[in-house]
Amino acid sequence: MDVAIIGAGPAGCRAAQRLAARGARVTLFDPSHPREKPCGGGVTGRALALVADTVRDAGVPVSVIRTARFTDSRRGESAVVPLEDCGPTSASALLVASRATFDAALLAAAIRAGAVHDVSRVTTVDVGGSGVRISTTRGVHRADFAIGADGANSLLRRTVAQPFQRDQLSIATGFFADGITSDEIVIELLADPPGYIWSFPRPNHLAIGVCVEADAGVTSAALRARTADWIRATRIAGHATLAPYSWPIPSLKAQDLDALIVSGPRWCLLGDAAGLVDPITREGIYFALASGEWAADALSGDAPEQAFAARVRDEAIPELSRAARLKAGFFRPAFVRLLMRALQQSAAVRAVMADLVAGRQSYATLKWRLLRTLELGLAWRVLRERRRSGLPGH
Ligand SMILES: Cc1cc2nc3c(=O)[nH]c(=O)nc-3n(C[C@H](O)[C@H](O)[C@H](O)COP(=O)(O)OP(=O)(O)OC[C@H]3O[C@@H](n4cnc5c(N)ncnc54)[C@H](O)[C@@H]3O)c2cc1C
Repeated sequence: MDVAIIGAGPAGCRAAQRLAARGARVTLFDPSHPREKPCGGGVTGRALALVADTVRDAGVPVSVIRTARFTDSRRGESAVVPLEDCGPTSASALLVASRATFDAALLAAAIRAGAVHDVSRVTTVDVGGSGVRISTTRGVHRADFAIGADGANSLLRRTVAQPFQRDQLSIATGFFADGITSDEIVIELLADPPGYIWSFPRPNHLAIGVCVEADAGVTSAALRARTADWIRATRIAGHATLAPYSWPIPSLKAQDLDALIVSGPRWCLLGDAAGLVDPITREGIYFALASGEWAADALSGDAPEQAFAARVRDEAIPELSRAARLKAGFFRPAFVRLLMRALQQSAAVRAVMADLVAGRQSYATLKWRLLRTLELGLAWRVLRERRRSGLPGH
């Protein structure tokens, strides 16, 4: 089978590697390498578990994160959450890598497995009954199957399905701060607009940014200015040179996820192109890699479109839908304040949040695990009673 993969990010490279290793003829189109991608670069243990050999063998430089600091810069407060002490290849580690080196290692692994890297941009895709015709900036290519791993603005998605609407996207914008690193990530939850600011230390720079819903009524420029204020208030970047970036992230609601279409005759969509991103944390690297593997498995059997859609429905949608349903409550002002206080006071709440940021805590049990911790459970009940009795809160 001839497979054309558009996009050599984590999703496309992983699919290419697995398909080529199984004997498919794979062409991977992407003109952008070597390149940095606007991204925190946080690789959770479950993402790393899929590509640990590749990352280790290529010697990808990584920062191993030891602590997560939650800040409230307006009140000058913070709480430090220790992460599990583990090495860079542990399945419980949270690593941060530059996407230039991480993606380059995945691309090299795909090429080693036999995929051909075509250094050109795909301009049109025609999916017909008997095959796929791919036009690129360098020529025309024919294949049996097209995989769209071309990110949030996916050309294949726009061709065979619908582009993401504004209310299905988050804006992420911020700065790379050169020459500084750390073993601590910093997170500030925002209630207005709902979202969060982060600083993720890569081996030679900090990736600092903010993400909020694209339809929150705030411009990218205003968000970047807010991030710059935060950088000044926290003094996190010292005198480093700041290089700005902005990028969209798919951020689907539960009803979007229930109706999500990720494949059709002779095509499928992976990673960001499919919309497989955690709507709270905006973690997408795990789902990009995993969906690449699911596509390779599906294309190795009968009825690949149906097999791939079933895998996404079973393995991604339940978790992403739970996150989408929890999201409104997660960034509510009362919850943000309560969580900050609980993080300062409760080791049990710190343990839950350590697992959440390291990708070990599922949304299925998050609410109950948080509520079960006596301190937060008590506070929640007090808050609820106060609201019921009509007494004013703080
Ligand atoms: C600011 C920010 C911070 C983030 N932080 C994190 C984080 O810390 N951890 C995490 O897990 N996730 C994070 N994410 C999400 C993560 O970056 C994405 O989910 C992930 O990169 C998706 O991988 P992908 O392979 O689907 O797409 P991408 O990584 O977007 O790769 C798509 C590739 O397709 C190529 N392409 C596009 N169009 C064409 C075309 N027409 N022809 C050929 N090639 C094309 C592009 O050049 C690109 O290389 C963040 C996102 C943003 C924006």
